[in-house]
Amino acid sequence: MSESLLNIQNLTKGFPIRGGILGREVARVQAVRGVDISIDRGEVLGLVGESGCGKSTLGMLILRLIDPDAGKIIFDGQDITTMPQSKLRPIRKSMQVVFQDPYASLNPRMSVGDIIGEPLLVHKVTSSKERRDRVMDLLKLVGLNEKAYGRYPHEFSGGQRQRVGIARAIILTPKLVIADEPVSALDVSIRGEILNLLEDLKDRFSLTYLFISHDLKVVEHISDRIAVMYLGQIMEMFPASELCEARHPYTQALVSAIPVPDPDAKRERIVLKGDVPSPIDPPSGCSFHPRCPYAKDVCKSQEPQLDKYGDGFFAACHFIDEMKAHSVGSELASK
Ligand code: SF4
Repeated sequence: MSESLLNIQNLTKGFPIRGGILGREVARVQAVRGVDISIDRGEVLGLVGESGCGKSTLGMLILRLIDPDAGKIIFDGQDITTMPQSKLRPIRKSMQVVFQDPYASLNPRMSVGDIIGEPLLVHKVTSSKERRDRVMDLLKLVGLNEKAYGRYPHEFSGGQRQRVGIARAIILTPKLVIADEPVSALDVSIRGEILNLLEDLKDRFSLTYLFISHDLKVVEHISDRIAVMYLGQIMEMFPASELCEARHPYTQALVSAIPVPDPDAKRERIVLKGDVPSPIDPPSGCSFHPRCPYAKDVCKSQEPQLDKYGDGFFAACHFIDEMKAHSVGSELASK
């Protein structure tokens, strides 16, 4: 059995913008552009980037909720890129999703017991008695009272609803869970509880996560490795425990925005100029060049490839060696 559970190669997806009386395609939003990533079994890969950078689209592509324009998706040793939906059905049991908005993702007319047990029903996994027993077990595991079984989503807080969403995602004991901003809509006070729950369940059921978030601190907490996405491309990948050693200028800007708990510790905030460019017409060369404080002429014309620059470190930057001097790690070392 291969170590890698998910391997995606050169994955690309654009969405047409149509105009005119005939509804012809007049432009294309380039949401995901040539993404290569792999996730090992039992690993948590954090995917971080600003809103609209293509993170959620990448998640939907992996789940085959939308079809890619190009590239490959290898899941659990099988190429599922163009697999027909009828053949995908049994594989879908092994890939589940936790959504950002726990209320919108739960059917308000269904009881919690029915919501959590629905995947078992859809995939005809158990009898109704077994289904009820498994839902009851899971309710306890995710920290909900058994009485929740017959109640409805509106009777619960945001954190409790997200526990229901998580229970629904893991009831089929999937191999891969795509958690798409699972704590962003929750109060800060309960984010930690949900993250701890996700970690506990991962250990208990040997799950693998693609954890998508715009919050680098949250991603650092839960991930083994982090991939940083910008305008539909992966800019850098590195071990989460070595966040301070990440060198790409965009990653450095994200790191500099993380609040430092020690009031005496001063870290210079890197404020990026301008807005994120439009994904309809991404900049030439390095797509980060209009906002990069270190951009040179070559950055405007030549696109950097995602190359290895250290053990477990990959970045798309022409000047990654020079960037070492600007990383938070070297900033701390010089103090
Ligand atoms: Fe900045 Fe150039 Fe590196 Fe892009 S390639 S991140 S523009 S220095």
